[in-house]
Amino acid sequence: MNDTATPTDASECKHPPGMFAPVVNLSRCEAKGDCERVCPESVFEVRRIDETDYAPLGWLNKLKIRVHGMKVAYTPNVDACRACGLCVTACPEKAIKLVKRD
Ligand code: SF4
Repeated sequence: MNDTATPTDASECKHPPGMFAPVVNLSRCEAKGDCERVCPESVFEVRRIDETDYAPLGWLNKLKIRVHGMKVAYTPNVDACRACGLCVTACPEKAIKLVKRD
């Protein structure tokens, strides 16, 4: 199996929770919330970016995040992900990847 899951529709989801995890590229995320809306497992929360995530970003990404209200998508319920791929498809910024967990 590859280290990434192929996006599909939720009805075809065959993975038990915990095998894959969505990884959000904070340099691309614009906090539009599509991931939060489409995820059937309530994995995402769009909220204020943590200082530890904000500090290492380049100035252009910092500016972009400020324009978007200092918010990005986090995955507080990551263990519930069933790798349906809906978030990957829904994100208009292509900011989410599904990665196989160890
Ligand atoms: S692949 Fe995305 S939409 Fe599907 S369960 Fe995992 S986090 Fe939610």
